[in-house]
Amino acid sequence: MKFIRVNLTAKSIETQDVPQEYAGLGGRALTSCLINSEVPAACDPLGAENKLVFAPGYLSGTPLVNTSRLSIGAKSPLTGGIKESNVGGTAAAALANLAITALIVEGQAAEGAYYFLNVDGDGEASLLDAGECKGMRTYALVEKLTEEFGDKKSITCIGPAGELHLTAASIQTTDLDGRPCRAAGRGGLGAVMGSKGLKALIVERSGKSADALADAGEFKEAAKAYAKAVRADEFSGEIMGELGTAAFVEPINAVGAFPTRNAREGQFEHASKISGENMAKIIKERGGKTTHKGCAQCIIDCSNEYVDADGKYVTSSLEYETIWSMGGMIGNGDLDAVARLDFLCDDIGLDTISTGVAIAVAMDAGYKEFGDGQAAIAMVEEVAAGTEIGKLIGNGPAAVGRHFKHDRVPVMKGQSMAAYDPRAIQGMAVTYATSPMGGDHTAGWVVDQNLEEFGGTLDRFSAEGQVEASRDTQIHMAAVDSVGICDFAQSGLASPEGIANVYKMVAAKSGKPFGEEDWTAMGTRTLKAEREFNRNAGFTSKDDRLPKMFYEEPLPPTNKVVVISDEQMDSTFDF
Ligand code: SF4
Repeated sequence: MKFIRVNLTAKSIETQDVPQEYAGLGGRALTSCLINSEVPAACDPLGAENKLVFAPGYLSGTPLVNTSRLSIGAKSPLTGGIKESNVGGTAAAALANLAITALIVEGQAAEGAYYFLNVDGDGEASLLDAGECKGMRTYALVEKLTEEFGDKKSITCIGPAGELHLTAASIQTTDLDGRPCRAAGRGGLGAVMGSKGLKALIVERSGKSADALADAGEFKEAAKAYAKAVRADEFSGEIMGELGTAAFVEPINAVGAFPTRNAREGQFEHASKISGENMAKIIKERGGKTTHKGCAQCIIDCSNEYVDADGKYVTSSLEYETIWSMGGMIGNGDLDAVARLDFLCDDIGLDTISTGVAIAVAMDAGYKEFGDGQAAIAMVEEVAAGTEIGKLIGNGPAAVGRHFKHDRVPVMKGQSMAAYDPRAIQGMAVTYATSPMGGDHTAGWVVDQNLEEFGGTLDRFSAEGQVEASRDTQIHMAAVDSVGICDFAQSGLASPEGIANVYKMVAAKSGKPFGEEDWTAMGTRTLKAEREFNRNAGFTSKDDRLPKMFYEEPLPPTNKVVVISDEQMDSTFDF
């Protein structure tokens, strides 16, 4: 258990034991508590005072399946508040297997200088000059680094968007095949990495010094039961492997909650062309892969490999949110164009959600026609070229809206909403508005609780019960993000016995009792730290609101608006 602190100003590297105040924390709990404690809330997010923290989940590097989440935290240049963005791939397991609890990147390299941070098989870190890789896109960079360092490395890097400090820049990380297709997309953390002068983090994957388990027998027994539950569940055990998250396109569109043409409508007439079912059909016909293991220790395999008509690789892990942002949101029913846009965003280092919504806002403002997938591809290429329109798109929807003086901009705290329209699922209005992260679906996904089709019991058009559902889910998700379990493996903890298995594993790792109260306390502590940081950064309850389009424009075909009052929004965090 150790922290590695890397200071890019001084070019120094220091290893320290994990301080007592952070004992037992991992993932989001650790990044958020550390950022709140060590980063001045009013600092320039792209300046030397900000810190970029990489922390594997508390259960990463253990025998538990689907624990590949790496939390990355910093002050966000997109929202101006705290940010945690987590990503799968191989980095969390690689760091945890070297007993690295957190890598904390501080300071700032001289302007224009870039470095690699290399962590070898003994867990020793060193800075290497990355000058010759300046400006490289992520796929070419990873290919070069793999040639140089071998294929047993996990590579986490930025592309041109991060180097340009664009606020929709992502941090990309390699999957099990060594492709940089997994993204910590949200919040512009790629720009923070770029501002530090860090081009890539290269971590040895064959480490064997993971933290010892206090009770390995107890841990393995609970981990086995957990994996059994994940396999037995229809969604995680069957549907996700076949269709991935793209399975959501049809049901969300059917209930009119699929934001279309910059959220002017809730249903997309070409949804069947970009659905999970159609994507699987196309991939199979062309000889790609509908099922693909994207992340270490995964038993769900929700990823895929999308190929072109000649069977040539286009992109990997084409997922629901991207299919929406580059599909319905911009009125584009051409799945090949969606796949190309997904690849370009990974390659340039851009969040697909913010980028798609930025394009949608530009189209809504009349810059290009809705539905023009080729125009969208050209706009994303402009980002890498650093042109004026490219910079606008790369800075996300709010920047585009300001430029075109267009006020239909679906962002909360500066970050775009995701693929569930809050007018058709009121609980998502609460999550989008109140999450310290800004518009974010994973922070408190209450879609299942709102849709009868998913077993939900809430009236999705009513405010009743929505605040409670969002609050409880936000607390729960803050804890899930802290232990590092993939969202899609939550079937393993959905039942009382399942979540009890997670408590058992946390206790069996730490050697200290852990139960329901501790789980809630971990989630609550995380949210409190995040909210405190945001308050100190100048956020008030006025920032816990949605743009007026959601309150004033009825969404066809359900023709509903958001009905959650300001008072209800303000009652979300009652702790
Ligand atoms: S289910 Fe998907 S996102 Fe989750 S660990 Fe597996 S491949 Fe990664």
